[in-house]
Amino acid sequence: MIQTHILGFPRIGAQRELKTALEQHWRGELDVAGLEDVGRQLRQHHWQLQRDAGLGFLTVGDFAYYDHVANHIQLWGCEPARFGFAGHEPALARHFKMARGVDADATSGHAPCQGHATCTGTHALEMTKWFDTNYHYLVPEFAADTRFSLAPERLLGELAEAQAFGLPVKPVLIGPLTFLWLGKSKSAGFDRLDLLDSLLPLYADLLIRMAAAGVQWVQIDEPILGLDLPPAWTQAFEHAYQALRRVDVSLLLTTYFGGLGDHLGLACRLPVAGLHVDAIRAPGELANVLETLPLDRELSVGIVDGRNVWRTDLDAALGQLRTALERRGGRLWLAPSCSLLHVPFSLSDDTALDEELRRWVAGAREKLAELQCLKRALLKGDAAVASDLAEARAAIQSRRQSPRVHRPAVSARLAQLPAHADRRPSAFSRRQRLQRDRLKLPPLPTTTIGSFPQTASIRAARAALKRGTLATETYREAMQQEIAQAVAAQEQLGLDVLVHGEAERNDMVEYFGELLDGYAFSANGWVQSYGSRCVKPPLLFGDVQRPAPMTVAWAQHAQSLTKRPMKGMLTGPITMLQWSFVRDDQPRSITALQLALAVRDEVQDLEAAGIAIIQVDEPALREGLPLRQADWPPYLEWACRAFRVATSGVRDDTQVHTHMCYAEFNDILPAIASLDADVITIETSRSDMELLRGFGAFRYPNEIGPGVYDIHSPRVPDSDEMIRLLRKAAEVVPAERLWVNPDCGLKTRTWAEATAALQQMVQAAKQLRDEL
Ligand code: GLN
Ligand code: ZN
Repeated sequence: MIQTHILGFPRIGAQRELKTALEQHWRGELDVAGLEDVGRQLRQHHWQLQRDAGLGFLTVGDFAYYDHVANHIQLWGCEPARFGFAGHEPALARHFKMARGVDADATSGHAPCQGHATCTGTHALEMTKWFDTNYHYLVPEFAADTRFSLAPERLLGELAEAQAFGLPVKPVLIGPLTFLWLGKSKSAGFDRLDLLDSLLPLYADLLIRMAAAGVQWVQIDEPILGLDLPPAWTQAFEHAYQALRRVDVSLLLTTYFGGLGDHLGLACRLPVAGLHVDAIRAPGELANVLETLPLDRELSVGIVDGRNVWRTDLDAALGQLRTALERRGGRLWLAPSCSLLHVPFSLSDDTALDEELRRWVAGAREKLAELQCLKRALLKGDAAVASDLAEARAAIQSRRQSPRVHRPAVSARLAQLPAHADRRPSAFSRRQRLQRDRLKLPPLPTTTIGSFPQTASIRAARAALKRGTLATETYREAMQQEIAQAVAAQEQLGLDVLVHGEAERNDMVEYFGELLDGYAFSANGWVQSYGSRCVKPPLLFGDVQRPAPMTVAWAQHAQSLTKRPMKGMLTGPITMLQWSFVRDDQPRSITALQLALAVRDEVQDLEAAGIAIIQVDEPALREGLPLRQADWPPYLEWACRAFRVATSGVRDDTQVHTHMCYAEFNDILPAIASLDADVITIETSRSDMELLRGFGAFRYPNEIGPGVYDIHSPRVPDSDEMIRLLRKAAEVVPAERLWVNPDCGLKTRTWAEATAALQQMVQAAKQLRDEL
C-alpha cells in the first residue's frame, strides 16, 4: 500500500484571489457572502487538484481567511476576553477583529495594530513567525482563567464540502501541545501547559464528531517536536496522546521543519497510528525512523521539499523510498516535507522565468504531480513513468551542469579568499580615532536608517519603467530628482550623516538581486506572509557575482549635493539569503559567502568613490537562527563571517554601519559584537530602551544608535520623549558612543510625518549635546 497526501495547500490562490477578496471585503466593497464564495471556490479548486493528482486523501482544515492558528483559537473557543465579543457576532467578523484589531473609531479602515501606545482601540493579536518560515501567525493568549469550548461548525462544514468529492478526506489540526506552545501566557506566574487537561477533552470530542462523519484519518501537527523542549512539555506528549487514543480515528502525527533529534524515540513511541517526518530538512533522519518506528504504524515520508521551489530529484527520492518501502514491508505514505503554504501556487508557466528556469522549479501544483509520479514508479516500476522520469532527469542534469549555475570564476575566488579577508586592518579603537578625525561629527550624531518615503510618484515612475512606458534615462533623472529632494530636506533638518533615501529601490533584496548574476524573479511566485500580505521571494539559483556597481552612481550623485557625509546603503549577505528561495545544491554558508563577496565589491567601489560611511543592513541575521540551539554556533560563525567579508575590505577611516530591526539580541550579543561594525543601529523604542540593557551589560564595544522613535506609527513624538529615551540609553552605553536615529527606515511614512518627527529628533540631540 502506497498512499500520497499533502500536509496543506497554499490558500491565497493562483492569482492571489483571496488577497483581492479580503481587501475588497475590508474596504466594504465585497460582502461576507461574496468573500465566502471566493473561499469556497478556492477550496474546491485545491481539492480538485489533489483529486486529479490521485492523492489518497483530500486535506481539509488547511484553509483560513486570515490565519490557521486564529482558526484554532476559534475552534477551541478561546478568543481573548479583551475583544469583548458579543455572542451573536459572526465568527468571520471576530476572526478579522482578532487579526486586525478594533479601531476606537470603528468607521476608519484599520491597519494591523500591534499594540502601539497610540492605538486607543482593542489592539490585534500579536503576530509572530511560524517557526523559521516567513509566515506569521496570530499568537493565542492564555491566562489562568482561559476556558475552552468547542466551536467546530466551520471545520465540519469544510469537511462536508470536501466529502462531496466522494474521496477519503483527512482533516488537519494543530496538535494540543503545539497549540499551547505557540500561545503566550498572559497572567503572571501562569504556565500555559496547565491548560492541557482542559483542552484534551475538546480534541477528543472533535475527533469523535469527525469519526461520526466518516473520517478515518486525522492529521495532527506537532512541529514543536523539532524544537528544544523543556522536560515538562516532552512528558506531556505521552499523557496527551494516551488521552486521545481512545477515540476511534487514526491519528497521523506530523512533524516538520527539522529533525526529531532527541524526540525521535518519543515520537515513535506515542500511541498514534502514523508518523510523518521531514526527510528534506533532516535527510539523515529517515534511517533512524526506519530503525525505531514500530511496523504497525504508518510512516509518512516528507520527500518533496515543501519549503523550497526546486524540482525534486526523482531518482534520488526513489532510491530513498525504495529502501524505506522494503523496511516497512511495502507500506509507505509519501508527502511534501511540510505544508505547501510556504511555496508559490505554481511556477511552471511563470511568465518572468525563462524556459530553462521554469524546468528547474516546482510550485505547489507541480509538487502534487511529483508525488503522483513517485507513487506510480514505486508501484509499477520506473518504466510506467519513463517519460516523466526522463523529463525530470534532464531538468536536474541541466541544472547541475548549467554555466549559469556554476561559474568557475566565483568558486576560484572563494577558494583563494585570504584568511584575513574578514578582518579590518586595525582594531576598533584605532579606527574610531581615524574616523573621528576624518568625519568631524558632533557628539550624539544624528542620522536615519536609509529609506525616505516611497511616494506615489516614485512608485508610479517605477511601474511605468517596468511597463516600458518610461525611458530608462527619464526614470534615472526622476530618481535623481527625488534624491536631491531628500538631501535638501535632510540638510534643512540639520541631520549630521545623510542618506540618499533609497528612492530607486522597490525592495531591499529585489533591488540588488536584479543587478546580480545568479538571481531570478518570478512574475507570480507569491507566498503568503500573513493575512492578505504576500511576498515574492527571488530565486537564488546560481553562483552569485556582481557584473557592475549597483549603487555607486546614486551615492555619488547624492554626495555631490552636500558637504555632509553621505552614507552608502547596501543590503547584507544574510538578509539577501534569508529572504530568497536559496539553491539547495550547495550549503547555505557558501551561497552566503558568494553574496558577501558581491557586497564587498560594492563596498570597496563606494569607498573609492569617496563615500566615507557605508551601511550594510542585516535585519534578517537573527531570523536565520536554526530552530535548535545546538545548531546556532555554526550558523552564527559563517553568517557573521559573511558580514565581515562583505565589510572588511575598506580602510580604517571608512566607517561601517549595520542595521537590525526589532529582535531579541541578548542571546546572540557575542555574535553581534563579532560583526565588528563601527556603528550598529537597532530598533529599541518600542521596548523603551530595555533592549539596550543587554548591550550595556555585555559591554558591547563599538558605537550604537538605539532607535529613539517608532517609525511604524504615523504618530509624531516630541523631543522630550526622545530625550527621555536617550538619557535611559546613556545609563547603559556611554554617551560618546551613542548615535541618534529612528528605529528603522522611513519608506512607509509620509514626508510630513518623517520631517516632523526628525525635526524633534534633531532638537533632542542638540539639547542633550549641551548637557554633555
Ligand atoms: N535601509 C533600509 C531602510 O531604511 C533598512 C530596512 C530594514 O532594515 N528592514 O528601509
Ligand atoms: Zn529596520
